[in-house]
Amino acid sequence: MTSGSKSLMWFRKGLRIHDNPALEYAAKNSTHVYPVFVIDPHYMKPDPTAFSPGSKLAGLNRIRFLLESLVDLDYNLKKLGSRLLVLHGEPGNVLIRCLKEWDIKRLCFEYDTELYYQALDAKVQSYALESGIEIFSPVSHTLFNPAEIIQKNGGKPPMNCLSFSKIAGDPHWLSSSLSTTLSMIPPVGDVGNFEVSEVPTVKQLGYEDIQEEEPPIFKGGESEALRRLRESIKDKEWVAKFEKPNTDPSAFLKPATTMLSPYLKFGCLSSRYFYQCIKEIEKEFKNHTSPPVSLLGQLFWRDFFYTAGFGTPNFDRMRGNKICRQIPWNNDDELLAAWRDARTGFPWIDAIMVQLRKWGWIHHLARHSVACFLTRGDLFIHWEKGRDVFERLLVDSDWAINNGNWLWLSCSSFFYQYHRIYSPVTFGKKYDPTGAYIRHFLPVLKDMPMEYIYEPWTAPLIIQTKANCIIGKDYPKPVISHETASKECKGKMAAAYELNKEKNGMVSDEDLQNLR
Ligand code: FAD
Repeated sequence: MTSGSKSLMWFRKGLRIHDNPALEYAAKNSTHVYPVFVIDPHYMKPDPTAFSPGSKLAGLNRIRFLLESLVDLDYNLKKLGSRLLVLHGEPGNVLIRCLKEWDIKRLCFEYDTELYYQALDAKVQSYALESGIEIFSPVSHTLFNPAEIIQKNGGKPPMNCLSFSKIAGDPHWLSSSLSTTLSMIPPVGDVGNFEVSEVPTVKQLGYEDIQEEEPPIFKGGESEALRRLRESIKDKEWVAKFEKPNTDPSAFLKPATTMLSPYLKFGCLSSRYFYQCIKEIEKEFKNHTSPPVSLLGQLFWRDFFYTAGFGTPNFDRMRGNKICRQIPWNNDDELLAAWRDARTGFPWIDAIMVQLRKWGWIHHLARHSVACFLTRGDLFIHWEKGRDVFERLLVDSDWAINNGNWLWLSCSSFFYQYHRIYSPVTFGKKYDPTGAYIRHFLPVLKDMPMEYIYEPWTAPLIIQTKANCIIGKDYPKPVISHETASKECKGKMAAAYELNKEKNGMVSDEDLQNLR
């Protein structure tokens, strides 16, 4: 250890102690460690004009989850003799000031592939390099280093999960055991004139702290993440036999998947540690399931989208994105609002959108249903609009995974069978014929008889009256006819695919206009 050497551990994601190589390095090589989190106005400034409470980019559910995660991180750091220093402002400027004023010799932070962080990190790293500050920035948010996968694949990200997993192989860290505990962290040094605060409450950040009728579904933080992980994997047979396509999107009393996504998104749970736990269980079962459908496979999907997002310019938009089909989506704010606000008149779709708003989480196939309905299935609205709604409402909202899946579901990239449409009536019925899920999230329909619960507009008036739910008054009529709309959508998709083929991807705004 260099005597008198001070390190700054910059937390952004990776809000954990376990398997945190940047923190471990700082702890091992310093006399003092400054663990810093910067409250970034870009993400956190309240936006009263948004369609739901929160900032411009994040709904209140996610902001609350982040603050809880910081409280837990501070608590866990204190147990190791340290604490979290919460600072406020534009992170680049704040960090550079910290490096200067605290005479930092080493800057440690988890590598981040997101565009926003790439730009931010370049600014901070350039100052650190000029000032002779050592930088340690390991890849630990994902199983693999996206840059290495792209290099192994001849300079391009793999375009399907199976080829991704073949190229990736076993992660290199698997042969050595991950560090899951730290015994101590060197003390925090003098913070000088810096205004260091405790983790703020939502109220202190300027949000109205709305008390929900039901307790929140998620509680942020590493402690809760590890508790939920243990709970999720205690039934080893369930883990070994997990097959994602066979999980039930309508299960809400006991959801059918792990619900660990918010913890992975913020790095309260290490995806590598999760992977290692699953691998250990798989060793005990000869006939465990395999990627892409197995639980391990789900983590491959995560890395697959991270790699695609990292290696594709303009991944988060249609224009200028080489892997995205150019499609003349409609602009219809009324239909978009009906979808967003659970007023489409299709109970399966509306119940999912209510769950999304309340819980900040919905099952993967529920995400499929509403994303398909909004885009190529029925409303023919741009996937970027749906992506924005998800980005705001999901607690697990993740730049690479959200954009990647919207590209997929809208048949803009990765998946091209646009004639395969999720029916807003029959798909949910397969899993939940009595409509328990709909009755829970749309109590206005709770007394609708089972035979009409997915299509209440077909119920005779006498039945609607008995069920205390008049369609068109208490619950909306369907905004479209699924039969007609889905047929039209398929026609438009066929024409758009043809045009993309003809123009070899060089489709202009005028070409798109002509297709409308
Ligand atoms: P599990 O089935 O228990 O899987 C374990 C973990 O694997 C998940 O927590 C997640 O980190 C990862 N994973 C699972 N499925 C996928 C997938 N298809 N792609 C990438 N990673 C996956 N997931 C997000 O984490 N953030 C998002 O913003 C997001 N947006 C989505 C948008 C759309 C339109 C769709 C169709 C899917 C989206 N997903 C997103 C992927 C997936 O739906 C969720 O990761 C999953 O439902 C989370 O629930 P779980 O933790 O119970 O998953």
